[in-house]
Amino acid sequence: MVNDPDYSLFEDVCSFVDDAAKHMELHPGLLEQIKQCNSIYKFHFPIRKDDGSYEVVKGYRVQHSHHKLPVKGGIRYSSFVNEQEVMGLAALMTYKCAMVNIPFGGAKGGVNIDPLKYSVGQLEKITRRYTSELIKKKFIGPAIDVPAPDYGTGAREMAWIVDTYEAFNPDAINAKGCVTGKPVSQHGIDGRTEATGMGVYLGIREAVSVQEDMKELGLTTGLLNKNIIIQGLGNVGYYSALFLKEAGAKIIGIAEWNGGIYDEEGIDIEKIKSYQVENKGFKGYPHGTFVENSIELLERPCDILVPAALENQITLSNADRIKAKIIGEAANGPVTKEAEKILLDKGIMVIPDMYLNAGGVTVSYFEWLKNLSRVSFGKLEKRYDMQKFKTLLESIENATGDKFSNEQVDLIVKGASERDLVNSGLEETMVTAYHELNAKRKEKNIKSLRTAGFILALDRIAISYTDMGIFP
Ligand code: GLU
Repeated sequence: MVNDPDYSLFEDVCSFVDDAAKHMELHPGLLEQIKQCNSIYKFHFPIRKDDGSYEVVKGYRVQHSHHKLPVKGGIRYSSFVNEQEVMGLAALMTYKCAMVNIPFGGAKGGVNIDPLKYSVGQLEKITRRYTSELIKKKFIGPAIDVPAPDYGTGAREMAWIVDTYEAFNPDAINAKGCVTGKPVSQHGIDGRTEATGMGVYLGIREAVSVQEDMKELGLTTGLLNKNIIIQGLGNVGYYSALFLKEAGAKIIGIAEWNGGIYDEEGIDIEKIKSYQVENKGFKGYPHGTFVENSIELLERPCDILVPAALENQITLSNADRIKAKIIGEAANGPVTKEAEKILLDKGIMVIPDMYLNAGGVTVSYFEWLKNLSRVSFGKLEKRYDMQKFKTLLESIENATGDKFSNEQVDLIVKGASERDLVNSGLEETMVTAYHELNAKRKEKNIKSLRTAGFILALDRIAISYTDMGIFP
């Protein structure tokens, strides 16, 4: 489990990298440089609580690879946060960005608190103090290191971060690009909130579209009527579930830390989410069956299992009981190295985290570009004389005898919205990357899509390091 003191996510990631390197001809020194975390900042700061007492909080920011700058990765608030976890998550960001060709190095931050135990006011103080510590040590900045949301944080925290950064850097022209995942009102980008879940859906959609792979798994192609079990109904799990369901799949189980729900008829995602928010869990939900020990839901038969919570969930202790045909890693590191071997031997397909949850950082990249270039991705409608536009369209219709459909007129007249642009960029990224990944797997004649992903990523990082040379 995630708080297992013997488990190190960083060691697992390094060992995946070593496996991939066996299929390549990388100089051992270069491989060593790629694997190490370049800078680790671990710090403590005090907070004064509402009752007058004090607490010392542990914070981290790890920059894994400087082969491209800025480095990029979320900030996690959880009581499981420790150095090895943040190192592992930072390393995964490096490989993830390389996998989908996003020009960032990898980083990750964490604060060891359970956010549910703090008031909004306290969380704001913790976030602003954490940010000021990063500013002091130059571990944040639009050209240096750009955080984003992760487990336990969201747009609200990102707004506090950018405001704190600007307070300390009043004349920094690109200050808005110091963090992504901000609210749209604070120079965020439309579609970032849903981006990771949308990417998960697109990645699974691509995987199940390959006829020969599905045949091997004994599945039909396409998402229609596929039975899915999801672990975690936070931001990533919720949007993944919503988009998968919209595409025709059936969500039959959801496992949360305080109990799960199982319903063969299919679960209404929006309904259960509002029930969960109101009742702080699924207990008492009027449809399906409540499952107290929710980890057991991961072992029920289904077509696709989507762990969308934390790392170290499918391990030696449960891997041989997993009955899903496909595991889509929406979380970072949910399947351990040893567990993956068992799953692959059982013929289960594992779509790896470094690819499947890359939608978040992809749209973060669009947000960062938007902030740096100060472009507004608003609709054309606002900038053109609409009457002139419509008269022009009419004259084209008259001249050609063709008639534009309402949809075509809408698109020509209004132009694409920011969300349209974001979603099409995200789709293009996820589709291209999946087919590169699968082609590499077949070229190397290996079972593991993860190993194929690491080969692709390592290759790109190695070229970058080699072309850069060594300072001094
Ligand atoms: N925390 C997310 C991840 O693990 C997003 C990172 C980002 O947008 O920089 O990929």
